Amino acid sequence: MKRDKSYVLAILIPFLLMGFVETSIAQRNQTFTVVLDPGHGGRDPGAVGAISKEKDIVLSIAKKVGKKINANHSDVKVVYTRSTDKFVPLIERPRIAHKAKAQLFISLHCNALDRRRTSPQGVETYILGLHRSDDNLEVAKKENSVIEYEENYETKYQGFNPNEPESYIIFEFMSNKFLEQSLDFATLTQHELVNGAKRTNRNVRQAGFLVLRETGMPSVLIELGYISNRAEEKYLNSEQGQNTLANSIYNAFTEYKKEYDKRNKYAISGNADQEATSDSNLYASDSSDSSSQTEYKIQFLTAPRKYNAGSRVFKGLDNVEYYIDGNTYKYTYGSSKDEQSLYPLLREVKTKFRDAFIVEFRNGRRIK
Ligand SMILES: [Zn+2]
Repeated sequence: MKRDKSYVLAILIPFLLMGFVETSIAQRNQTFTVVLDPGHGGRDPGAVGAISKEKDIVLSIAKKVGKKINANHSDVKVVYTRSTDKFVPLIERPRIAHKAKAQLFISLHCNALDRRRTSPQGVETYILGLHRSDDNLEVAKKENSVIEYEENYETKYQGFNPNEPESYIIFEFMSNKFLEQSLDFATLTQHELVNGAKRTNRNVRQAGFLVLRETGMPSVLIELGYISNRAEEKYLNSEQGQNTLANSIYNAFTEYKKEYDKRNKYAISGNADQEATSDSNLYASDSSDSSSQTEYKIQFLTAPRKYNAGSRVFKGLDNVEYYIDGNTYKYTYGSSKDEQSLYPLLREVKTKFRDAFIVEFRNGRRIK
């Protein structure tokens, strides 16, 4: 008997050691961190349906997404803002992402509409920005109103009133240098949810979500479906439904990560944590003295072709510059070493091009 046991151990120990070594190598090589943020929790149930609560659905789906990422991406670290049914103040969620030095923030929610008898159904993926419609504003209001569960929320959130449309003006001119990458991930996610999971398409949208405002990294908020719709609530609670939704988010993540790795291969040395496009170059660049410095410009147009100076598509903007990113021409206006000094100009450009935003260049290369 005794001999048998030591025999088994002698065989097992090398394998156990190998397992240990493998884990520590994997941990050291984790170069990408994704934060999964299941909305609500604890005393905040989120939207409440006929048979379930939003907080439980999104926690379950977040765990499925995390499990899949962990199983298939050894270089990715998954961080949860909560992994149990507990209350997490809204302000804490981006802080967790900051602390983890994450590269991507994914907030998971379910939608609800109680003012209509028949609720719509379908998926929406949001990025931060000013809402384009009252519907989008309503969703942001609902998700932001969770701060009312927190003590002294008026002070904590600097007077932000989630129910007051005026509070949302701050999102209009806010510079968001992660807009493009957030939009990339949102587009991939929406595509997977619609084409893979076959959910009703309610599009990629923009609205002022407090939870996305402070993350400082590419961030999206996914509304996985309407808990107020009987059929969709059933789907959101089914094992098959949750697995399908989790798979879609996982597929979008895998695709995004592939692109991220491609871009990162060309990262400027000494700035390994920053990404840069490999083939961007400046047109009419006179920055010989500032070639080693940071420069900000207003990007207002993306097109598959090159337009000449004075083209009507520029709507009267002079001295337009462009750089090439992949297969597209990206047109910029104005330039400054100080991001804030561009805000008045951005305001002006936005009257002609609503989606204009500030981009950053270092050594003449676009930093994403
Ligand atoms: Zn929610």
